[in-house]
Amino acid sequence: MAKRSKFVKPEDRHITRARVLGSKQVSPNFIRVTIGGEELRSFTPMGFDQWFRMFIPQAGASAARGNVAGQTTLRVPSATSNLWYAQYLAMSKSTRPVVRNYTVRGFRGADEAVFGENIPELDIDFVSHGDTGPASAWAGSATPGDEVALLDEGLIYNPTPEAQWQLLVGDESALPAIMGILDSAPADLRAEVFVEIPHAEDAQQVTTPEGVNLHWLVRSDPHDRPGVLALETVREAELPTGPSYTFVAGESDLSTGLRRHLVNDRKVPKSDIAFTGYWRHGKAAP
Ligand SMILES: Cc1cc2nc3c(=O)[nH]c(=O)nc-3n(C[C@H](O)[C@H](O)[C@H](O)COP(=O)(O)OP(=O)(O)OC[C@H]3O[C@@H](n4cnc5c(N)ncnc54)[C@H](O)[C@@H]3O)c2cc1C
Repeated sequence: MAKRSKFVKPEDRHITRARVLGSKQVSPNFIRVTIGGEELRSFTPMGFDQWFRMFIPQAGASAARGNVAGQTTLRVPSATSNLWYAQYLAMSKSTRPVVRNYTVRGFRGADEAVFGENIPELDIDFVSHGDTGPASAWAGSATPGDEVALLDEGLIYNPTPEAQWQLLVGDESALPAIMGILDSAPADLRAEVFVEIPHAEDAQQVTTPEGVNLHWLVRSDPHDRPGVLALETVREAELPTGPSYTFVAGESDLSTGLRRHLVNDRKVPKSDIAFTGYWRHGKAAP
């Protein structure tokens, strides 16, 4: 029997250039940046947790160029195979862009565009953790016209066909992915969903199938280390039995800790768990 692939890769992968159309604070700890552009016409929205590499200018680069409409200064790799990274590393450190990973929170074709420019639009929900990281800082000061580029990576979420129910767990960085999975879910999904957030108002509206129990876990102190509450809660939770599929993402200790718990204490097969460290406490993305 053919081996089931772990991820769902996009059929056609491009480096897509776009520019910021607008941004807004959607809740105390989230900034939604909407980008748009002609090149997004060839972007294929896949729903669920679709993610991409995002290239943004280094801090100061957009101010230095004065944000002139139509001027392209963002240097990006040309390869869309895994060679893109070697090309990226070969660029001089002073001119190469910052690259970070983000999730498609919304996609609208040109005919549904809300910014009135008749171009496709893509929403990204950034956890705002101040100026401690270039991507978070960029989102906080994103200005219409700012350049970005994307490299589509597809889905990590890929439930096993045998799963009778699903466990979806994340901290706030995985909120866009889990909301995307719920937005795309089939009507018969059975799932226990735990999303940890810093503030009750960071919870987002989502329509879930009847068989889904969505638990918003609000940290008692927003500055407590993300992921600890989610891990403790799921450890103590009474969960359904039977073949399952788990998607866990967020701070690295949450993802590895939950996997360890499921495998060691609940005897869940490793192959039924997709665990991803989205970020590491105290460590910038490479
Ligand atoms: C597949 C995938 C999809 C992702 N989707 C999203 C998404 O849609 N929205 C989103 O906000 N994030 C998402 N992330 C996480 C995001 O890529 C990281 O948080 C990234 O490190 C942020 O980059 P930065 O430049 O802001 O900070 P970095 O330069 O990477 O880090 C600087 C400092 O900030 C800390 N830090 C990084 N992220 C956080 C955080 N979330 N909260 C608190 N402190 C942090 C680091 O520990 C470090 O000390 C995703 C990650 C992956 C792998």
